[in-house]
Amino acid sequence: IREQLREQCSGCGVKLQHTDPQELGYLPRQAAEKGTAICQRCYRIKHYNEASDAVLNENDFLRILNEIGTTNSLVVNIIDIFDFEGSLIQGLPRFVGQNPVILAINKLDLLPKVTNVNKVINWVQHQAKQYGIRPVDVVILSAKKNLGFDYLIEAIQDHRQGRDVYVVGATNVGKSSVINRLIRDYSDLDEELTISQYPGTTLDVVKIPLERNASIIDTPGIVYHHRLTEMVHKRDLQSLLPQKPIKPAVYQLNEGQTLFFGSFARVDFVQGERQSFTIYHSNAIPIHRTKREKADELYAEHRGKMLAPPNEEGLAQLPDFSKHTLKIARGEKMDISISGLGWIKVNSDQGAIMEVQVPKGVKVSVRPSII
Ligand code: GDP
Repeated sequence: IREQLREQCSGCGVKLQHTDPQELGYLPRQAAEKGTAICQRCYRIKHYNEASDAVLNENDFLRILNEIGTTNSLVVNIIDIFDFEGSLIQGLPRFVGQNPVILAINKLDLLPKVTNVNKVINWVQHQAKQYGIRPVDVVILSAKKNLGFDYLIEAIQDHRQGRDVYVVGATNVGKSSVINRLIRDYSDLDEELTISQYPGTTLDVVKIPLERNASIIDTPGIVYHHRLTEMVHKRDLQSLLPQKPIKPAVYQLNEGQTLFFGSFARVDFVQGERQSFTIYHSNAIPIHRTKREKADELYAEHRGKMLAPPNEEGLAQLPDFSKHTLKIARGEKMDISISGLGWIKVNSDQGAIMEVQVPKGVKVSVRPSII
């Protein structure tokens, strides 16, 4: 049996070879001598999750979603709670057809510690409906803190009913991290790991066996260019993504005041009574308050320097600002969400007119307050 294992990869079953790293079945001789019986490609997928790291353009992604729609399956869509609007898959209901969808909301650990999780779940249900998604379940997770995975597994077991389970998500929502947790804690990967390709693409699909005869199929992520996190230099990504639970900052603003978020965004309070705004974003991006009438000049002089990150080099890579005028109606408390940067809660119910400037293409939305 030992000899046999060394001839074939125990992951994908291809014939192992020790000569050409570019060819299928490559296993470095040294690793083989130490008893490894899995090809380098499977090893990498197993340990570094390269399928999850693969990214797709919109067309390929839609092709895969369409493909899923023709199967009888359960879809698990991973969403980033820090960027709900930006990480939602547009047109998901159309593509998955009749197949049930579980929304797995990741990065719970970023919400302030006092957050009421049930309220967030209700909020997600409500918001999903606005986008035509009627999930059979909403599960809140933190891949980072290892929270919620028992619920996720339970939801998958409850709803799969013998069907395949496809995991889909935009890039940077934490899909690899979630899959890695599932592999580590809920799978018996040494037994089997099937790698195949989507019809018409060269893209790997990785079937990961879970406990109790279930398995999940990991799919490559889609890059949504409307997320600031996908536009910035890698170095700036670290400052955009909060590293700890968000500590909201409250600003009392008068009409005619402006806030800069480093050089990533500018928010003007154009019209309304003096009121407070609560900002949920990464502390690594300093907020600078100024008078609106001085803001253009300040930005021209200090962008990428005092107003940073990004620095001038990072800024050179971003599109120029484009302007969004937002009318916040009286009544329900609303958030202004800036995809990848965070959100601003408008605390007064008296209404306000705001002007948001962000690199062109970044998605800006107004929504009922999440918190
Ligand atoms: P993928 O592109 O969707 O596969 O996402 P990754 O798993 O590579 O994660 C993207 C970024 O989000 C990385 O910086 C991760 O460290 C971070 N991340 C993933 N899961 C969590 C989580 O539960 N909480 C927090 N705070 N960050 C996470």
